[in-house]
Amino acid sequence: MIDTHAHLERLCDIDEGINKIILVASNIDDSRNNLLLGEKCPGKLLVSMGIHPQECEASPAELKKLVEENYKKIVAIGECGLEFMGDFDREKQERVFRTQIELAQKYKKPLIIHARKAVDEVVKILKEYKDLSGVFHCYAGGNKRIKKVLELGENWYFGVDGNLTYEEGLVDVVKNIPKDRLVLETDSPYLTPEPFRGKENNPNNVIYVYKKVAEIWGKSFEETENIVDGNAEKLFNIV
Ligand SMILES: [Zn+2]
Ligand SMILES: [Zn+2]
Repeated sequence: MIDTHAHLERLCDIDEGINKIILVASNIDDSRNNLLLGEKCPGKLLVSMGIHPQECEASPAELKKLVEENYKKIVAIGECGLEFMGDFDREKQERVFRTQIELAQKYKKPLIIHARKAVDEVVKILKEYKDLSGVFHCYAGGNKRIKKVLELGENWYFGVDGNLTYEEGLVDVVKNIPKDRLVLETDSPYLTPEPFRGKENNPNNVIYVYKKVAEIWGKSFEETENIVDGNAEKLFNIV
């Protein structure tokens, strides 16, 4: 199993079944900390660097410098994108997002996209650029927008989290996502799946998301794991 999206402040006990975890960043401090954690657990904890749209006050120049210095040590840029819930400066969000798209393009890294109430707007921006790849993490665009994301190209994926275990509507969405475009994540410490809903989430709980997908697909756990992990390995170039 691969948890393709976790926010970890420090090392934690990881079950044997979890082969890799992608450490996602929301700001400059996270990006630096991910690098330190990644060095402690090479090959298992993989590093992403980025600025979350809610933290668009962070300095894109600082991120640029950090990525320039460390691009060989990271597997992705993000999380980045647009957040249209709440009161965050949309112009700043877009500016910071575009900087990160350019970094992804320059260093040939996939983007970990955060698009809340903003899938259409994010797709519109991404369409202006060439040769991108990435994942719409915690995909919340409904059935309606699956096609739009797929139209971005064959390098685009959908990330699904623990809320799949309790949100009926999301089950239907997963049925409609092509099997070769799905990756799974915890978004730890958030979005804890059943049966641990209400507690703090950790990457070990990604197994409940795999189990639910296996049930939805009508496939064995092993078959499901093979397909989903193959997708993640391809997207993040981590075979
Ligand atoms: Zn997010
Ligand atoms: Zn996140």
